[in-house]
Amino acid sequence: MANQDGMWDTAKALETSSASSAADAMISDADLIERAREARQSAHAPYSKFQVGAALVSSEGRVYTGCNIENATYSLTVCAERVAIFKAASEGALRIARIALIAEGDEPVTPCGCCRQMIWEFGDDNTVVVMCTLSGRVKSLSIAALFPHPFDSSFLA
Ligand SMILES: [Zn+2]
Repeated sequence: MANQDGMWDTAKALETSSASSAADAMISDADLIERAREARQSAHAPYSKFQVGAALVSSEGRVYTGCNIENATYSLTVCAERVAIFKAASEGALRIARIALIAEGDEPVTPCGCCRQMIWEFGDDNTVVVMCTLSGRVKSLSIAALFPHPFDSSFLA
């Protein structure tokens, strides 16, 4: 059950299927978090030391992972979520059912604004962002809740 902030506790997040199709429902939130945890091991974060892993499941049920990749110029740094999204999109997976991210901290880390816009681009109202700490604390929110006023194609018409 979501609390008044719209967030779920760990047990509920892991037991609740946030999937939007039969194909992506084959991947549990726990599995997706584990894939993100593995991807985090490849993080290139020599400057911030803040290692992040991400894993998304596409509407076809395929998993794509990413880690943050920093650069000495700082501004070229790319977040783990966008690495996973770019990998998926470059292979033709254009719909995100769920995306998990994991990082160290007392509270589950939320996607930055840039990544929220990117998740929105390839997601829909049912797309869920599963945020997790290394110790296993989980919060899940829809991208619609995390990013309520996106810039989308309707402005381009
Ligand atoms: Zn980001």
